[in-house]
Amino acid sequence: MNFSKLEILAQKLIKQPSVCPRNNNCHEIIVDYLQKLNFKIELMQFDDTLNIWAYHGNNGKKQKHTTTLLFLGHTDVVDPGNIQHWNHPPFSGVIHNNALHGRGAVDMKGALAAMLVASDNFINKNPNYQGRLAFLITADEEGTGINGTTRVVESLMMRNEHIDYCIVGEPSSQHQIGDIIKNGRRGSLMGQLTIYGSQGHVAYPQFSKNPIHLVIPILSDLLNTTWDQEKNVFFPPTTIQITNIYTNNNNNSNIIPHTVTLDFNFRFNNKSSIEDIKKGINKILTYYSLTYNIDWKLSAEPYFSNPGKLTNVVVNAIKYYQKFEPCLETTGGTSDGRFIAKMGTEVIELGARNHTIHKINEYIDLADLKLLSSIYQKIIEDLLLYQQ
Ligand SMILES: [Zn+2]
Repeated sequence: MNFSKLEILAQKLIKQPSVCPRNNNCHEIIVDYLQKLNFKIELMQFDDTLNIWAYHGNNGKKQKHTTTLLFLGHTDVVDPGNIQHWNHPPFSGVIHNNALHGRGAVDMKGALAAMLVASDNFINKNPNYQGRLAFLITADEEGTGINGTTRVVESLMMRNEHIDYCIVGEPSSQHQIGDIIKNGRRGSLMGQLTIYGSQGHVAYPQFSKNPIHLVIPILSDLLNTTWDQEKNVFFPPTTIQITNIYTNNNNNSNIIPHTVTLDFNFRFNNKSSIEDIKKGINKILTYYSLTYNIDWKLSAEPYFSNPGKLTNVVVNAIKYYQKFEPCLETTGGTSDGRFIAKMGTEVIELGARNHTIHKINEYIDLADLKLLSSIYQKIIEDLLLYQQ
């Protein structure tokens, strides 16, 4: 069977076992591809992370009032888990039953290949187009991300680099390609609360203070609090999830423990402030006059990109191929789109269907892969050819 250029490229990337933060040969494959298209390429290595920044157009010159469209992606993948459970080995890139199988097929080597081939086709058809096409590809999106997109964006901002529009290739789609696109993500705030009681014998509760009993009304207050100040049309409400509860008691059934600790996570929207969340928690704890300690860790700020020209172009491209209109959402975990949004760039996330994301037996249908690439190509055309 003859495979297309797109299928071969996606397969080549999947064959690299680039479990975060490893890169293997992914960057070489991508650099080689971009080089053949005459992209100006800069490798940005920050500590353990290799990032690619590349652009094409305007004969390599940076011009003030030119439109720049950036494709944002990552080559790293999450661990495949138990390889025995996979129908096809996770890094074999097997094409079977009209689907490409392997870790990263949807998150997001398939989309990366689709973006590269869309750019390739566009440049070949329109060698003298106006504007710039750019790629920012990191190797650490699934891990801490400390030396990934955020560091590249810092460097680009220092050079006054301007990016008008950005397509993030994260798997946004659910049932069909393009049914959901995203223009923002919630933030993530983690907390660890330790409540102090006093240890004692379970038979003499009058001489101690059981912190588990103290925490029960607090749990219900946490779950019954409304954390949003106002309704938000673009975001789901801010929510808390308690992820763990444990004491200092080591399986001892006749000791009242000294401490109970709660781990929790807030997913918060762009209208909730971190300070307000912290104040809300402190108000509850103060009400019960407890001795406690609380540690906070902000893992991601929320972002929101106002729908503008890019959103219109993306919606139209999806309508053109799919005959339906996508839903604009801000659901799901965080994404590197939040770093690009800081540049004042309009950001839209559009990628593969996410039903096998991070799972055993991740795969992408070949028809989806092709369709995604065609939609990307139409977006490039509509932004760089027809809407100057
Ligand atoms: Zn991803």
